[in-house]
Amino acid sequence: MATWQDFINQNEDRDGVRMTWNVWPATRIESTKMVVPLAALVTPLKERPDMPPICYDPVLCGRTQCRAVLNPMCQVDYRSKTWTCNFCLQRNAFPQHYAAISESNQPAELISQFSTIEYQLQRSGQAPVIFLFVVDTCQDEENLQALKESLQLSLSLIPPTALVGLITFGKMVCMRSNLHLCITHFPLLLPLSLSPHSHSI
Ligand SMILES: [Zn+2]
Repeated sequence: MATWQDFINQNEDRDGVRMTWNVWPATRIESTKMVVPLAALVTPLKERPDMPPICYDPVLCGRTQCRAVLNPMCQVDYRSKTWTCNFCLQRNAFPQHYAAISESNQPAELISQFSTIEYQLQRSGQAPVIFLFVVDTCQDEENLQALKESLQLSLSLIPPTALVGLITFGKMVCMRSNLHLCITHFPLLLPLSLSPHSHSI
């Protein structure tokens, strides 16, 4: 019989997502007591041969402070064509083009085995592509030099309109949404040959 650990591993393999916790805090007080913040390590562009490309925009929760995405954990009422957000419990109407949905005709985002999907957004005026580098600085000089070269190469291949962020972690975690700022905090690895304001997020 599969153990809980097997179940978690299986989900991680399928979704390419690893969470810091396997359960969601039930209350606000519980969430403030967590010694490790709730976070997810996501594998972008993970290959899923079992999943068709999702060529439409996600359906979002209508509550301004929430904006969670419709997912298989949401409660759906097919008769009234509404869904209840599993994060904030807001009841939302499905958009017009979901009028034909039913229990036997579900969109991909409601199918339980598609617990992680990647949307190919259709709307115009999308935000620029964002690259976030996460760098472990606990390495010897030689490795850091190689890492610097790899980063320089990666940055040279990034489209000029892309936004870049950098998180470094060693003795301290340095998180900067503006790469220029991080250069001053990370002289061992940087400076990279970037103009100060060419990459910001
Ligand atoms: Zn919500």
